[in-house]
Amino acid sequence: MERGLYIVPTPIGNLADITQRALDTLTHVALVAAEDTRHSRKLLAHYGIETPLCAYHDHVSEEVTEQLLARMIGGEAIALISDAGTPLVSDPGFRLVRAAQAKNIPIIPLPGPCAAITALSGAGLPTDRFFFEGFLPAKSQQRRKRLESLQRQAGTLIFYEAPHRIKATLADATEIMGSEREAVLARELSKTFETLRRDSLSGLLAWVEADVNQQRGEQVLLIGPADEPSDNALLEKDRQLLFRIAEELPPRKAASIVSEVTGVKARILYDHLINREKK
Ligand code: SAM
Repeated sequence: MERGLYIVPTPIGNLADITQRALDTLTHVALVAAEDTRHSRKLLAHYGIETPLCAYHDHVSEEVTEQLLARMIGGEAIALISDAGTPLVSDPGFRLVRAAQAKNIPIIPLPGPCAAITALSGAGLPTDRFFFEGFLPAKSQQRRKRLESLQRQAGTLIFYEAPHRIKATLADATEIMGSEREAVLARELSKTFETLRRDSLSGLLAWVEADVNQQRGEQVLLIGPADEPSDNALLEKDRQLLFRIAEELPPRKAASIVSEVTGVKARILYDHLINREKK
């Protein structure tokens, strides 16, 4: 087998979701570097693959990384896998890929399962642009800050979330992005209890609150793009900022400054100020 580092996606639930090329690669490489060897040993055994395994995660010592690099420099092929899905996507591998690139070791990424893309493809939310955030911070204050910075991001937002935090995250998202913003909760993809539910953020929150089963298992939360900012869609805090600045400056200047900060078109902000004065 050609020497190099093979990035091999593995199933995110349904064990049939592995490509023939992934199986061939895992069978013929000299070594499989895995996030959790016990977990991956079971996976390989399921497919009758006996290739040796070693542990690799982003906190392994320099020495382990150096050993892997030395083997590939010496002509061996090594596969990198994580517990599920595509390595490096909210999973270990980034440091190893960079280190291998620096030594001119070929990197061969294989296409395959990824929870974010699987969820997006079935969500019925716009797919022409999307923004993958991965895991939000666990603490509410930092999570809210991050959500605030993403609320106007163009395209569908994709988050991974732990089951015990989904309710709190939906509550924060509802407050920050607006209760009517369209969203999808994709749960247990490719598994027995697979559920994809599309609703408003507040609708999803009510749903998971009413049925604790919906808080169980693996979750991807997708939030549809913000509407084109319009007069009505102006966020309360932007409205307050606009009115406060307009107390000190003429409407056109106030609108232009708030537009720079918020991304809302200056014309919309200006109209907003003028219409308010007319009322
Ligand atoms: N590398 C993986 C990938 O390609 O999707 C993601 C690994 S990340 C550590 C694990 C998170 O992915 C879970 O907490 C969950 O948010 C999401 N996830 C993984 N499998 C899933 C599934 N079957 N259904 C829904 N979400 C899943």
